Amino acid sequence: MTAYRATVLRTTAVTPLMLRVTLGGEELRDYRGSGLPDESCRLVFGPDTTRNYTIRRRDPVAAEIDIDFVLHDGGVAAAWARAARTGDGITLSGAPAGKYAPAPDVPWRLLVGDATALPAIGRAIEELPAGASAHAVCVVDNPDERQTFDSQGNVTVDWVYASAREAGDALRQATLTLPDGPGYTWVAGEASATRDIRRHLRHTLGLPASRYDTVGYWRVDAERWERRYREVAAVVDPRIAAADAITDDEQYFDAVDDIYAEVGL
Ligand SMILES: Cc1cc2nc3c(=O)[nH]c(=O)nc-3n(C[C@H](O)[C@H](O)[C@H](O)COP(=O)(O)OP(=O)(O)OC[C@H]3O[C@@H](n4cnc5c(N)ncnc54)[C@H](O)[C@@H]3O)c2cc1C
Repeated sequence: MTAYRATVLRTTAVTPLMLRVTLGGEELRDYRGSGLPDESCRLVFGPDTTRNYTIRRRDPVAAEIDIDFVLHDGGVAAAWARAARTGDGITLSGAPAGKYAPAPDVPWRLLVGDATALPAIGRAIEELPAGASAHAVCVVDNPDERQTFDSQGNVTVDWVYASAREAGDALRQATLTLPDGPGYTWVAGEASATRDIRRHLRHTLGLPASRYDTVGYWRVDAERWERRYREVAAVVDPRIAAADAITDDEQYFDAVDDIYAEVGL
């Protein structure tokens, strides 16, 4: 894990609910990311307070990184972004991260996400090579939240409107059935929805792990989930630690999902 000190260069409203913060500083010139479209870093807001954010754009020559923040109510990160002014300092810490990994010759890509996933979806679309095809389903609050993504590939985008709280159902709906033939599905957004979707793709549709990736980005009522976690931590923690021995990622996620489900998490 490497830490990089950065400074706010400017902020730009992407949409009314999405704020782009452009960070700069010599240390960013050597930022070591994964280069994947959904690569993320941890922003450090205090000694034990970090949040994950996607690297929306990285320019090593100018030593700049753009981060797009969803301006939701509550939350240290959203509040920091809202108040960010040129010259403010922040630390990014990160190891190369990201999951988006379709096989190069995959005939179709389906990208599904809520507002928090738009930075990754935007990058995936913009980095799509000529001749490649992708369809995105983007769940945002209202039509003013739509964004435009340039691409050399063949891209279609469906915009679906739902509040953040309701976005999970729209994500589930978008992944119920998939296009015919082998393809690649990437889903990110509210974590209880992405958990259901991973199970659906793996167990109902029977997809091999190479054909999908799902990532929980945030949680509705995170405080309620954390309260419940504290209540059951003594039971859950040793079981999760035991599951660490499972080497297959999908089997590990199955085991963890089962443990959480048993205790209402
Ligand atoms: C790999 C990864 C990449 C991510 N990339 C991005 C990104 O590029 N842009 C981005 O905006 N987010 C991104 N996220 C999601 C972001 O980390 C979470 O939304 C995070 O919880 C925000 O922190 P916070 O301090 O603002 O709110 P928290 O303190 O975590 O939560 C405070 C309250 O707000 C609620 N809440 C949290 N997030 C949201 C939301 N998005 N909408 C509505 N309510 C919410 C919680 O349930 C809680 O009640 C990413 C997450 C991951 C794991």
